[in-house]
Amino acid sequence: MAWDFETDAAFQAELDWMAQFVRNEVAPLEHVLGSPWNIHDPRFELLVRPLQRQVRERSLWACHLGPELGGAGFGQVKLGLMNEILGRALFAPIVFGAHAPDSGNCEILAAYGTEEQKARFLAPLLANEVVSCFAMTEPQGGADPKVFTSRAVRDGDDWVIDGQKWFASNARYAAFFIVMAVTDPDAPVYQGMSMFVVPADTPGIEIIRNVGVADDPEATHAYLNFAGVRVGVDCMLGEPGAAFAIAQVRLGGGRVHHAMRVIGQAQGALDALCERALSRSTQGSLLADKQMVQEKIADAWIQLEQFRLLVMRTAWRIDKYHDYQKVRKDIAAVKATMPKVLHDIASSALQVHGSIGVSTEMPFVGLIVRAYQMGLADGPTEVHKVTVARQLLRDYVACEDLFPDYHRPTAAAAAAEKFRPVLG
Ligand SMILES: Cc1cc2nc3c(=O)[nH]c(=O)nc-3n(C[C@H](O)[C@H](O)[C@H](O)COP(=O)(O)OP(=O)(O)OC[C@H]3O[C@@H](n4cnc5c(N)ncnc54)[C@H](O)[C@@H]3O)c2cc1C
Repeated sequence: MAWDFETDAAFQAELDWMAQFVRNEVAPLEHVLGSPWNIHDPRFELLVRPLQRQVRERSLWACHLGPELGGAGFGQVKLGLMNEILGRALFAPIVFGAHAPDSGNCEILAAYGTEEQKARFLAPLLANEVVSCFAMTEPQGGADPKVFTSRAVRDGDDWVIDGQKWFASNARYAAFFIVMAVTDPDAPVYQGMSMFVVPADTPGIEIIRNVGVADDPEATHAYLNFAGVRVGVDCMLGEPGAAFAIAQVRLGGGRVHHAMRVIGQAQGALDALCERALSRSTQGSLLADKQMVQEKIADAWIQLEQFRLLVMRTAWRIDKYHDYQKVRKDIAAVKATMPKVLHDIASSALQVHGSIGVSTEMPFVGLIVRAYQMGLADGPTEVHKVTVARQLLRDYVACEDLFPDYHRPTAAAAAAEKFRPVLG
């Protein structure tokens, strides 16, 4: 028997340190700084860099990466426990060197980059001396890669990129973009696109505008135009036509890390819900004594624990198989469940807080919008549910008979046949 839900004492001590550090030192940052990716803000040097140094000294920097890249190589189960804590504060991922999209961009640069690309782009990214951007979605659609039209055309020793990208997060702060473009329009769509690493100051790149989301402090999702953007052949990441394979490596782990952090955010909403229920009275009794409030609390806890178990089992399976293909269904299930869990728990917390719950003085509306973001970024929920269903259906075959084995008269006839020698 190998089922085990315990955390070893040494790692629990690390988690306890992280929890108090995030609560006391990191969480206050979001009330005085803007976007966590704005490393160019002089206040970032003053307030964030010292915390990053503490994390490095404790060997907790970029723990999703292996030791060869300066991380602790924790594995996904430990990362899950850690990310639950990092999810509690907006600045925690960047303080711990685990912020998207740079975490995923580091992984693909490490896996597919040439030595020169690693020295030029990966090394400063790992150290958070720069931040980066992943530009895949296009204005005409993100959920269907078949509609992508951005083109890269070979011209001598260069590639020339033309097209538009949409919702390219943090482009305004990025030192380089990882851009997906069609390089062979005649190839099947999943083999016709390639990935490029494009320095942000390359002539021809324009941020048409930065698009904001709900109550984010700054508009950070760029609508980008590439007009004759010329990069050397050494800027292609991986082989020609390999963009999808590369994107999958990047997105597989990233989706689970988002889910781990969402557990922390949903736990924060549940904590607020419980505290409020115990603090507020109406019509002669505490909210906590009212059964419809109790139902909200019970449902929230049950939903969160179910999700947490799914996430942790998925993490365990990633560690066991080291093959994202083998855990595709699990990751898609996590991705599809995550928005609903956050939405439902944040909504209950909002409702039980009454008018202040819906106000900008409380975080619940922001969490509900974040739930919708989680249901879109890295692909919409519907697409991930399709993946779950398709993967699941692979384990089944159609019944060729008119009535299936589980049809009760058919099962009864089979049972009568089986026991005839004994029962006569
Ligand atoms: C906060 C945030 C950050 C993001 N950051 C980045 C980034 O850094 N880089 C990047 O490249 N992209 C980024 N994106 C874009 C994201 O990947 C896309 O939003 C996503 O792929 C969906 O594309 P779309 O928005 O064009 O929606 P569409 O493709 O137009 O889909 C709209 C809706 O149609 C429905 N739908 C779509 N497909 C199906 C289907 N097969 N079956 C049933 N219904 C379906 C869904 O309800 C979906 O929400 C980000 C998005 C958000 C919200």
